[in-house]
Amino acid sequence: MKIESGIFFDFKDVLIKPKRSDLSSRSEVDLTKTVRFLHSKREWTGVPILTSNMDTTGTFEMYKEFSKHKMITIFHKHYNLGDYPKDLDPNYYSLSTGTSDSDWEKTQQLITKLNPYFLTIDVANGYSSKFVNFCKKVREKYPDLTIFAGNVATGDMVQELLLTAKVDIVKCGIGSGSVCSTRLKTGVGIPQLSVCIDCSEVANGLGGHIVSDGGCTLPGDVSKAFGAGAHFVMLGGMLSGHDESGGDLVTEANGRKFKLFYGMSSKHAQDKFNGGMQKYRSSEGKVRRIPYRGPVETTVLDILGGMRSTGTYIGARRLKDFPKCCTFLQVHQQVNTVFDSANFVV
Ligand code: 5GP
Repeated sequence: MKIESGIFFDFKDVLIKPKRSDLSSRSEVDLTKTVRFLHSKREWTGVPILTSNMDTTGTFEMYKEFSKHKMITIFHKHYNLGDYPKDLDPNYYSLSTGTSDSDWEKTQQLITKLNPYFLTIDVANGYSSKFVNFCKKVREKYPDLTIFAGNVATGDMVQELLLTAKVDIVKCGIGSGSVCSTRLKTGVGIPQLSVCIDCSEVANGLGGHIVSDGGCTLPGDVSKAFGAGAHFVMLGGMLSGHDESGGDLVTEANGRKFKLFYGMSSKHAQDKFNGGMQKYRSSEGKVRRIPYRGPVETTVLDILGGMRSTGTYIGARRLKDFPKCCTFLQVHQQVNTVFDSANFVV
C-alpha cells in the first residue's frame, strides 16, 4: 500500500485569475482550433467540444445543432446500421464502440458504410490489457482513422494508449461524471482539473491529445478544463434535459416537464440495452429527472459565450492560448450564494 499526498483539484476548487488584456470584445476570441492528430495524421478544424457518447446526449438531433457550431457529436453505440442519415459531415461526428466481438462486428460494418474520420473506443476502465489490445487491432486495420479512446485518468496510461495502442486522443476522467457513482461504489477516481493538468502534460510531450471527460457543470468549468490543458472537452449532463437529448419528455400531473438522464452503467441503462444487470456487478450510474430545458442551442450559446468571455478576462485571443494565459487560484468558495435558495428564485 502507498499513499500519495498533495492536493488534487476539481473545477470547483479553483478560479481563473484575471489578467491585463488587449481584447475589447468577446467576438475577438476565436474558439476554433486546428489539430493535427498523432497517428491518423489528419488535420481537423473546429470547436473542440464533444457530446458524451451516452444515448441521452450522443444523438442525431444533437448533431444537427452541434455541427452548426463545428463541434463533434459522439454518437452512442446503440444506433443500428440503418439508422444513420446519409448527409453527415465526417468532421463533426464520431462513431463509438465498446470492445466486445459484436461491437467490433458492427463497427467494421459501419466504417465500411460511412467511411468516418473519427471512432471513439469507450470502456469504463481503460486500464485493462484487453482494451489496449482492442485499440491496437483497430489501429492496425484502420491506419487513417482518428481514434478517441478511454477512459483513463493518469499520465502513465495516456502514454500507453498513445504509444502502444496508437490512439490519437485519450479520453480522460474516472468518476467525475454527473450521473456516475464509480467513486461511491469503488472508491476510485481522480479530481478532474488535476486529470486535465497531468494527462495533457504527458500528451503534449508525445504530440498526442486528450479529452477531459466528465465533471463540467457550468460554462466556467469548460473554460477551466481548456485552461488546464485539455485539448477537447466532453459534456454529458450539461446537454441533458433538452429537445435534442435522448429519451421521452414526461409531463407530470402538475404540468412540470422533465427528461430522464442516466449513467450508461446504471441499472436503468443495463436493463434497456443489456437485458438486465449481471449479478457480479453493481450499478455505477445514477438515474435523474432533469427539468425540461428547451432547445440545446440556448445552452450551447451560453457555453461558447462564457468561453469567449474567459478569453477576454485572461487576454487569450484564441482557445489555443488558454493554458498559457491561465493562472488558477485555489479557493475555498467560488460563488456568492446568498440569494440562491428557493425563496428567492423567480
Ligand atoms: P458529465 O458531463 O455528465 O459530468 O459526465 C459525462 C461522462 O460521465 C460521460 O462522458 C462518461 O464518461 C461518464 N459516464 C456516463 N455514464 C456513466 C456511468 O454510468 N458510470 C460512470 N462511472 N460514468 C459514466
